[in-house]
Amino acid sequence: MITAGVGVEKARRGLNGHIVLAKYLEHGVVVEGHVDFGNGLHGNVFINPHALFRDWSEIWQDIQTMWEKLPTTLARDIQVVAGPLTGGAFIALWSPIVLDQLHAPADPRIQFAMIEMENGNAKMKPTYADVVKGKKVALVDDVRNTGRTFHTCAQAITKAGGELVVTLCLIDRKQVRPEFSLDVSHVSLTVYDVEDRLVPQDKCVDCQFGVPIMKF
Ligand SMILES: [Zn+2]
Repeated sequence: MITAGVGVEKARRGLNGHIVLAKYLEHGVVVEGHVDFGNGLHGNVFINPHALFRDWSEIWQDIQTMWEKLPTTLARDIQVVAGPLTGGAFIALWSPIVLDQLHAPADPRIQFAMIEMENGNAKMKPTYADVVKGKKVALVDDVRNTGRTFHTCAQAITKAGGELVVTLCLIDRKQVRPEFSLDVSHVSLTVYDVEDRLVPQDKCVDCQFGVPIMKF
């Protein structure tokens, strides 16, 4: 549980009025604390993707809602859903159940492709490379930050001969860097912008008071 405070109030204002993010605050997906983002920035709000998977039956509903935001005509074109390990792969694995419902029972089933991450770079095993080859692929992740993960996964899909048609995520932090932007449609279930809550490490008040850095 999160205790109410100025931080939570600020966080709630950043929710864009979206009920899903209110739920994520209660489930500890959006957490308060002294956070090192590893890029010279510190902050006091963090999205903990692991908390998403702890309450899976709740998140399963969110996955279905996320897919409902995609136009049906585009959703019907998708042949493979791919996602990076760890977070995105879980969401991708369950997504064909949603997409198969848009097709006749005799149509080919939607397939899943796992993308492994090694030092921030995407790699596909031959089994999954074969799955995406010549197919229209949707790429999903739990949280989009700088867009780096989507970018490297898109490269892996293209290298395997797949055609990336759309990216989707549950939470978009709106921090995508120009060098990682992709030229395909994107769908976010929710948007959570914490830009105004980030400070350079040397200006971090928590650091000055010796508040321990949070671990997940
Ligand atoms: Zn700090």
